[in-house]
Amino acid sequence: MYDVIVVGAGPAGCTASKVLAEKGYKVLLVEKFKMPRYKSCSGVLIKKSMELVKTYFGEDVPESAMCTPTDNRGMIFTDDKGKEYRFEQEGLNVWRSHFDGWLAKKAEESGAEVRDGVSALSCTERDGFVEVSLHGENNYTESARYVLDCEGVVGALKRKITGEAPRYITTFQTFNEGSIDLDPHYFYAYLQPELSEYDAWFNVKDDLLVLGVFVKDMDKISHYYERFIACMEEKHHLCISRQTRSEKWLMPHIRPGCHVDYGVGRVLFAGEVAGFLNPMGEGISAGMESGYCAASAIMEHFDNPQVACEAYRQGTENLKSYMQRQWSLVGGMAGTFREME
Ligand SMILES: Cc1cc2nc3c(=O)[nH]c(=O)nc-3n(C[C@H](O)[C@H](O)[C@H](O)COP(=O)(O)OP(=O)(O)OC[C@H]3O[C@@H](n4cnc5c(N)ncnc54)[C@H](O)[C@@H]3O)c2cc1C
Repeated sequence: MYDVIVVGAGPAGCTASKVLAEKGYKVLLVEKFKMPRYKSCSGVLIKKSMELVKTYFGEDVPESAMCTPTDNRGMIFTDDKGKEYRFEQEGLNVWRSHFDGWLAKKAEESGAEVRDGVSALSCTERDGFVEVSLHGENNYTESARYVLDCEGVVGALKRKITGEAPRYITTFQTFNEGSIDLDPHYFYAYLQPELSEYDAWFNVKDDLLVLGVFVKDMDKISHYYERFIACMEEKHHLCISRQTRSEKWLMPHIRPGCHVDYGVGRVLFAGEVAGFLNPMGEGISAGMESGYCAASAIMEHFDNPQVACEAYRQGTENLKSYMQRQWSLVGGMAGTFREME
């Protein structure tokens, strides 16, 4: 019997596992892919993410997780009328596979048992504990007093518990060799509705030019992507010599009000699967902070899941209001975002 089974070795799950294990709780962290697993991400750690790594993991982000240019200097938004807003801030440029792999290693060093290549298929609450069915090389079950579901965007496990259909948007991004007249130290977001159904973006990772668009309707990917490329060619002299990779991913469709699901009984949700994600896609700090708050609430109210869930909700109030303020900020820049209300 574990104290807590944590599902998913992203920022939320690794942070929760680390803080629980170092306080002596018996933790099993299961991750469906072999670590270090790939995660589609721009890999920008904003200052807050860097600070949370230092606070929760007691160390700075290692150089092995970084890519060039290592320092991200902020974000530059272009609103729906073409006006630029610059947000200068110290940040880091990382590859998520290496960064999350390092977080999982730290959780393991603190005493969490990490099993990668193992999926959580379902969980059933019994009298005072939860039984989790797992699939690795074969099917088996493990039990814990709590399950902390940090499975990220798809939320298959959560869907089995709540029955709710999640709302997604699709991300499509390409990695390219070539040139452009934009500063590689910044993350650029374009809120013009003609370029995407949410935002389009540009950043640089290890000399590769990354260009992406968000769409609600997958059939519109090439329509928006081609328009975005044409716009970048015209305005920023984008010249692509070779596309090295393209990838599609999902993101929760965060709406104004930023709805969050905290948990059901002895199963708590943290990170993206709970709805913790900054509306502009910055989810690493939201994952870490919510993972930490859920773990703290479990530790404080170990014998009372209902009180633990309420303490978790209260502990994340600041995070939620930060997300809501981000919504107002973006809604203030682009009418398309306001219209989602
Ligand atoms: C294109 C794109 C760009 C982004 N750019 C940024 C950025 O620059 N900065 C930023 O801060 N955020 C960014 N984000 C958001 C960020 O990636 C997420 O918000 C963050 O990873 C969420 O963390 P998490 O721990 O909740 O989930 P995840 O990081 O998704 O981790 C969940 C883990 O659970 C595992 N899992 C899923 N189901 C199961 C199961 N049944 N059993 C076992 N394991 C399971 C998954 O394999 C995964 O490893 C971006 C997202 C996208 C799609």
